[in-house]
Amino acid sequence: MGSGLSVQSFTLGPFATNCYIVREQGASECFIVDASFESEEIVAALGREKLTPKALLLTHAHADHIAGVGTILRAFPGLPVWIHSAEEGWLLDPEANLSALGGMPVTAPPADRTLHDGENLDLPGGTWRVLHTPGHSPGGITLWNKERGVAFVGDAIFAGSIGRTDFPGCSFQQLERSIREKIYALPGETRCYPGHGPATTVNKERMSNPYVRS
Ligand SMILES: [Zn+2]
Ligand SMILES: [Zn+2]
Repeated sequence: MGSGLSVQSFTLGPFATNCYIVREQGASECFIVDASFESEEIVAALGREKLTPKALLLTHAHADHIAGVGTILRAFPGLPVWIHSAEEGWLLDPEANLSALGGMPVTAPPADRTLHDGENLDLPGGTWRVLHTPGHSPGGITLWNKERGVAFVGDAIFAGSIGRTDFPGCSFQQLERSIREKIYALPGETRCYPGHGPATTVNKERMSNPYVRS
């Protein structure tokens, strides 16, 4: 973890999806990364610690990352929701966000802003750059804070694994390119917080990830 940056992780719902609350240590302003099923837990933590979320960022729009957007918005009306432009429509489309497959259609309120590759976002913790890292899904993003040495990588890469590419809209070739050209290109000590499983570092995955060699 970058010094002075607080990253609280919550592993929620039937797919054990990681959601994060990010802020300067001791500060009350924060932002949220992804909102899974059972996001009541995130709302409770925000209330308990008297935190004020400034934005909800979605790494991509698969159901297990967006199912709790409504829950969070009910607790924090008007909280801006941001997602990559390629998956804006998936929030309202259970076929696209894969929830129709499981027979429990999930939709989320529309996004307030769409994100694009290379954009810099001014949020708690400093400047967060949007890196478009498609492959697991067409609008997957990585949020990278250079100064803090931290990246939220969504379902692009996991500790010792990579995101699934057997769903509609997935492409292994595209994911491989995203990982090689965007994620492996980050400084080696960058700490990566994925959508599932434990955190890892760019170095560790470059050296040992069996799916995408550097
Ligand atoms: Zn996913
Ligand atoms: Zn996921």
